Amino acid sequence: MRLTAEQRDQAIAAVAHSVTGRIVEMRASGGGELDSARRSALLAAAVAREDVELEVDILAFEQKTGERNYNCFRFRDGAMMALGRSGEGTPFLRDHKKYDSEAVGGTITKSRTEKVAEGHYRILQTATLREPKAVERALRGLIHAVSIGARATGPVECSLCGTPVFEDCYHWAGDEVEGEDGSVAIVEWVYTSAVLWETSECPIGAVPTAGPQSIRAAIEAAANGGGPRPLVNKDSTMNLREALAAALSLAATAGDTEIIAAVNGLVASRAELTIANAELGVLRSERDQLRAAQQATAADEFVRAALAEGKIAAGEDEKLWRAMFAASEPRARELMTARAAGCATPVGQARQSVVTAAAAPAGVAPTGTQAAAAAAPVNVEAALKEHGYDPAAIQAQLSALGSKDPKKTLENAAARETARRGGN
Ligand SMILES: [Zn+2]
Repeated sequence: MRLTAEQRDQAIAAVAHSVTGRIVEMRASGGGELDSARRSALLAAAVAREDVELEVDILAFEQKTGERNYNCFRFRDGAMMALGRSGEGTPFLRDHKKYDSEAVGGTITKSRTEKVAEGHYRILQTATLREPKAVERALRGLIHAVSIGARATGPVECSLCGTPVFEDCYHWAGDEVEGEDGSVAIVEWVYTSAVLWETSECPIGAVPTAGPQSIRAAIEAAANGGGPRPLVNKDSTMNLREALAAALSLAATAGDTEIIAAVNGLVASRAELTIANAELGVLRSERDQLRAAQQATAADEFVRAALAEGKIAAGEDEKLWRAMFAASEPRARELMTARAAGCATPVGQARQSVVTAAAAPAGVAPTGTQAAAAAAPVNVEAALKEHGYDPAAIQAQLSALGSKDPKKTLENAAARETARRGGN
């Protein structure tokens, strides 16, 4: 999120606090040794709020290459000597309360940087305490930690990007940033030039709530209108990546490449699914058509067989049986089986069968002779067609009923019928 210039300055000022310092030694003012008797006398005077003075030697700050402090900031090595000198004359406070006069316990009277080794520096200070409460706390051993506060006098850079913070990147001190190779780096803010502002006594050392991320949370909450905001210990891109990784069922450590591959996979799957759905629709439609056709074929065969056996009559009777077959094929078959062959033929009439249909085409007189029977094949097919039957389908049906030569069966049946009629 974008911060105002004021909020950036606030962040930069807030992060430059270290809580690594401690009191090294105490002396009575003027350099006298603080033996038991002098300590008791000084403490009594402090409690009585008399005019007291206590010199305190402090290891105010230490910085070593490769070691990260709690606030994840460091001073440029080349800025360390000047930084140490700048502490002289600054206030010794309680809890970094810069704007509270009552919090002043004394003054830093000596301040310098000691270079221990290459990349290893210590800022050593002497504070002269004059506020009786501060003197009392020091004498009672209640000052557990000492911390410095610095002020940037030059650019503050992102250790990862090497550019001033909030310009090219939005990395906060302490952000965990994953590199291309999957390794995670923790961002430090590098103060290229700074001066000491104050030195403070603190009740304890590294306070978890005082880290840069809580500073960030507070500043961003203020920028958002003061609403509550969760304390996040990583930058926003990290959080987004983790959320994506979780949504994609990837490990929390999944890198950009892995996440992009997973998302591309999802996109491809969705396209594939769309195609599959369309194909499935076509298949279903084909299946339904096939079922309907099979059903129709079964009904046709059922009706033709019944007609051939004279169990039903064409017309209304056939329609009823088709309807029953459509409603319940097993029931229709059961009832049909129970019917006697020829039962549908009205008394005095020929069967409503294929043979009947073939027997007497209009205008063709039955001859009752073998010669007429020999001519039957032509008449059979023509007659069937004339009555709306498909000779091939009927032959197939006869074949299904056990006829080895359906055509012949048809011819014989026609001949018999012709003979019968001729005989009447
Ligand atoms: Zn950066």
